[in-house]
Amino acid sequence: MKVIREPGKEQWEEILARPTQRFEQLEDTVREIFKEVQQQGDRAVLKFTAKFDGLELDHMKVPSDVIESRAKDVPDALKQAIELAKSNITKFHKAQISERVSVETSPGVRCWQEKRPIEKVGLYIPGGSAPLFSTVLMLAIPARIAGCKEIILCTPPSRDGEIDPAICYAAKSCGIDKIFKVGGIQAIAAMTFGTETIPAVYKIFGPGNQYVTVAKQWATRYGIAIDMPAGPSELMVVADESADAAFVASDLLSQAEHGPDSQVILVATSESLLSSVAGELKEQLSLLPRKDIAEKAISNSKFIYVTTEEQVAELINAYGPEHLIVCMEAEEFIVNRIINAGSVFLGNYTPESAGDYASGTNHTLPTNGYARQYSGVNLDSFTKSITFQKITADGMETIGSAIEIMAEAEGLQAHKNAVTLRLREIAKNNPES
Ligand code: NAD
Repeated sequence: MKVIREPGKEQWEEILARPTQRFEQLEDTVREIFKEVQQQGDRAVLKFTAKFDGLELDHMKVPSDVIESRAKDVPDALKQAIELAKSNITKFHKAQISERVSVETSPGVRCWQEKRPIEKVGLYIPGGSAPLFSTVLMLAIPARIAGCKEIILCTPPSRDGEIDPAICYAAKSCGIDKIFKVGGIQAIAAMTFGTETIPAVYKIFGPGNQYVTVAKQWATRYGIAIDMPAGPSELMVVADESADAAFVASDLLSQAEHGPDSQVILVATSESLLSSVAGELKEQLSLLPRKDIAEKAISNSKFIYVTTEEQVAELINAYGPEHLIVCMEAEEFIVNRIINAGSVFLGNYTPESAGDYASGTNHTLPTNGYARQYSGVNLDSFTKSITFQKITADGMETIGSAIEIMAEAEGLQAHKNAVTLRLREIAKNNPES
């Protein structure tokens, strides 16, 4: 882990750069796969599954009886844990249901806004290096609460050509029965165009590696909406003397073990904390089963020493971390200054893993600095807001002439006429007014 002491602002961009490949570097592969899937449907999807996942499959849809029987293989303790997480995620996302907004903007002019579900959604569940069944909960629960009609799920097959039992259990528990064994770019292309087996959707959700992330961004060229670019995981921890070094090291490793392209950054206002965390990191790393992956990610990561809380806050906003842990006495000072972050965890007893699994917040979050302009997945991600209005004759009399004047000024005569005809009619019916 590289330690950088009191870096000048001119160094920040370089220090905070992500290790992921850039969009342009993957564009050719993504374009080629999209083209073939669009033209050849299932045949192309199966070909790329053989190429990238090393599996010759003859079908992709997982039959309901297979989902049922594999779900049964999940140990009881894990089933109970999934149900607890499901209950908390459901509570937090149900609480996001908002009332219809309705207001009389002028007498006789009522405007309101109502949410409607996106009818067809595709959920991508990562499965390359670990089957992320927790992501099923994070996406399927809000999709169900929002009332999406068609919900499909794509996830890479495991080495035996099947779907991980815990993914089957989580999907079944959330009422999802359209599961397809396909991952990577080919899954995103299939949900974009639709194939003989996989239906096309209007919006694609879910995190994934850099191939999946670039493919999702590519899908937007074909009019498909995406939740956000949610790529390789990142964590920034900001800490002072009050932080527990062992806890901080465990949090850094929890993100580092996601993939070699994950990134973790520790910003500290205490030199002694930095060295204690470095020691802990070494010790804890050696015991991890995914040590090799975490080690690679750690080599991309940085320890930054700064002296003031203002600098800490500025570094947070310059980086825009997907996950941010704040373990500082000046917690309130920092919280009030956070502008760019996906999800924030406060205090020594709030590990980022809690948000990954069971506290209730969503773990599908913007990475790569996109926290500047995107929110993480939430209930609204699965809905659209439709506006409505109803204007009475009195209302038309109130705002009609303003519309006429504005339409005339923009040179849009037909717009003006639509009001003028109505105003004349109203005047005819009410000669007194
Ligand atoms: P994945 O499902 O995202 O990707 C696996 C697929 O990648 C494979 O099925 C294969 O088809 C494709 N692939 C592999 N090598 C390829 C190549 N050379 N060319 C083209 N396609 C290739 O699973 P993963 O790889 O385990 O990645 C999961 C990712 O999700 C991690 O990077 C993790 O950090 C991230 N993640 C992000 C969030 C978030 O909210 N941002 C949450 C959880 C996980």
